[in-house]
Amino acid sequence: MRRHGYRLPLESTRSVGAVRFVSVNGRSQPVDFTTALLSGLADDGGLYVPEHLPGLPGAWTRATRLAEVGEQVLAPFLESIPRDTLREIIEKAWDFPLPLRTLDDDIHLLELFHGPTLAFKDFGARLMAGVLSHLLEQDERKVTVLVATSGDTGSAVAHGFWNADRIKVFVLYPSGRVSPLQEAQMTTLGGNVHAMEVDGTFDDCQALVKQALTDPQVHSALTLTTANSINPGRLLPQIVFYAWGVIQQTAGDPRIPRAVVPSGNFGNLTAALYAKTMGVPLGRLVAATNANDEVPEYLRTGTFTPAASIPTLSSAMDVGDPSNLARIQHLYDGHVDRIRADVEGVSVSDEETLDEIRNTRNRTGIVIDPHTAVGVRAARRLRSAGETAPFLVAATAHPGKFPDTIERALGEGIPVPESLSKALGKPKQSTPIKADYETWKKLLLADPD
Ligand SMILES: *Cc1c(COP(=O)(O)O)cnc(C)c1O
Repeated sequence: MRRHGYRLPLESTRSVGAVRFVSVNGRSQPVDFTTALLSGLADDGGLYVPEHLPGLPGAWTRATRLAEVGEQVLAPFLESIPRDTLREIIEKAWDFPLPLRTLDDDIHLLELFHGPTLAFKDFGARLMAGVLSHLLEQDERKVTVLVATSGDTGSAVAHGFWNADRIKVFVLYPSGRVSPLQEAQMTTLGGNVHAMEVDGTFDDCQALVKQALTDPQVHSALTLTTANSINPGRLLPQIVFYAWGVIQQTAGDPRIPRAVVPSGNFGNLTAALYAKTMGVPLGRLVAATNANDEVPEYLRTGTFTPAASIPTLSSAMDVGDPSNLARIQHLYDGHVDRIRADVEGVSVSDEETLDEIRNTRNRTGIVIDPHTAVGVRAARRLRSAGETAPFLVAATAHPGKFPDTIERALGEGIPVPESLSKALGKPKQSTPIKADYETWKKLLLADPD
């Protein structure tokens, strides 16, 4: 028996129906996946989690293609979608490679950064867009997707939903506070993607999105949802890459690997824990953070103390109060000792991050980005402490996205990948707005198409 709250279903109960979704706060009715996808948050304000996690079918390790694994992992959550259609949606969404690359010292990178915005968020954003488009087609609905971003989420969502049928996207970002590359990725697409350049902070952007999501007048005019990482539609697809990584890693090596997840909002680590719970053979997971070490501290002391985020070189992980911790606690019925049995926290400083970019390059010739470097450093630290298991490090971004940090670490630059430099050359299309709800609401409602 598993010790935690999730029931692994018996074979005979598997056909009872699709997995339903419940709120971590426990005060909402269970809903189906479509409802969870279209509301983002439960009506009691809690994050949606699967009511139970289905076991993987016996043959899953024999899958030879990513879309095949994806179909096996995701079908129980998406029972209303025929299997063939589901596989087609996955193939279309993930039309880029997901290789495993070996460093030294039995450390292996799961390269999650070969999608259009060169970061792992492409997996969740693109599959969510594909599934949402398909579901909307069924009942001829249209939906408006809102997302507040400090950079990475917005570019992945903008690209993932670009040209998706029946979906209109508003990306709100703080003016002057995202990198030129990130801004170009969000503002040069056009079409159904509307970039809003907010004269304010990321928190202002988030407040504008939240206010719209809870405004009855807006709701009567539009079907609204959010593509922030709280949406289960972005989280569940991430389970698949851990299953895929383990199939690759264990092909010629029966040892059980440990996955290392560079973490900020802890969505990716939650997905890895779901994979482990569903039966993917993974050892104790490693939650690697930068100086924003609230979760490693929580695992150490048993008390969670949120804090304002500290800026670091791995900026997509600068989160002081990660929203997905609630999902992890729910998975283990709130028992920190059980979480601790499955997750080890490691915090890595900026200085160590720079040193690791150098160290890994010197040892292997491979250049890693600052987020991946946090994960690799965590693996090396545990290796030095005597760990013998293979490490599977989630390589969350392409180094070419962070030319300044790479230059600082290596004393030489790195070419900007072509997909990014192309965006830099295109005209910027964004609407500057004040951080004022009435202005934003007018724009949102102005053009209901
Ligand atoms: C978003 C992001 C992370 C953190 O992922 P979480 O799911 O929020 O923990 C790590 N690395 C990169 C490059 C990211 O964009």
